[in-house]
Amino acid sequence: VPELPEVETVRRGLNQVTSAQKIKGGDVLLPRTIAHPLSVEEFLTNISGTQIANWQRYGKYLVAELQRDKSTPAGWLGVHLRMTGQLLWLDTHTELHKHTRVRLFMEGDRELRFVDQRTFGKMWWLPPESNPQESISGIKTLAKEPFSADFTVEYLTKQLKRRHRQIKTVLLDQTAIAGLGNIYADEVLFLSGIHPETLAKDLEDGQIAQLHQVIPEVLEKAIANGGTTFSNFLNVQGVNGNYGGMAWTYNRTGQPCKVCGTPIEKLKIGGRSSHFCPNCQQRRSL
Ligand SMILES: [Zn+2]
Repeated sequence: VPELPEVETVRRGLNQVTSAQKIKGGDVLLPRTIAHPLSVEEFLTNISGTQIANWQRYGKYLVAELQRDKSTPAGWLGVHLRMTGQLLWLDTHTELHKHTRVRLFMEGDRELRFVDQRTFGKMWWLPPESNPQESISGIKTLAKEPFSADFTVEYLTKQLKRRHRQIKTVLLDQTAIAGLGNIYADEVLFLSGIHPETLAKDLEDGQIAQLHQVIPEVLEKAIANGGTTFSNFLNVQGVNGNYGGMAWTYNRTGQPCKVCGTPIEKLKIGGRSSHFCPNCQQRRSL
């Protein structure tokens, strides 16, 4: 599952390759990938002949600003990769992968190809007068981004204190904190010295301050390394990220903790695997 660092890596890659590129047309191989407009023909008509000005990211959603004739707004192209979606920048003659869902043809025989094995990924075209943050419901309900100025200790404290679930589960809740997935949630808890089963509402102020500092640091480090290798993640050039080899706990069950040597343990929490060091991440008794 692509997490925030992977999606941010894709965004940066897209901005390098698609800047000022004109979309000549497209081919939708799986119509239900298009969430809006309801008609695929309408989707293709509206994006054809537009130029991609730039890509923005809201949580794990990617949104391209479209223009006609370099300055006239032509709406927005939204993409949600979900579980297995990949955006690839390819030569149009590149053999079609069987999970290819949408092809956007650009000038110079290049294309932006959306490949998605599990088919949960979505694309939108929204008219210029709309606000993608309002129109795409998944963006509207997103919590504050760890990189935004609104992500304060006070905000995080408020989000955590009112949640009675385990901190590991809360870190994955996109309405509490946007963009953190399973891999980085494990890393954040290790670096904060917090046992993953601790109830969010029971965290001490010092632990919350620690989380507030560590969350953006872990995400920044992952972005700097181009995302992770764990989830078959590919950036737009089809290259795997490098974060995997650096993980403190993720996927290291039974291996010695890099700090204290205690074997890393694995637990199922909220249906997801959690990797942690039982020594560095001890449960505190209240
Ligand atoms: Zn340890």
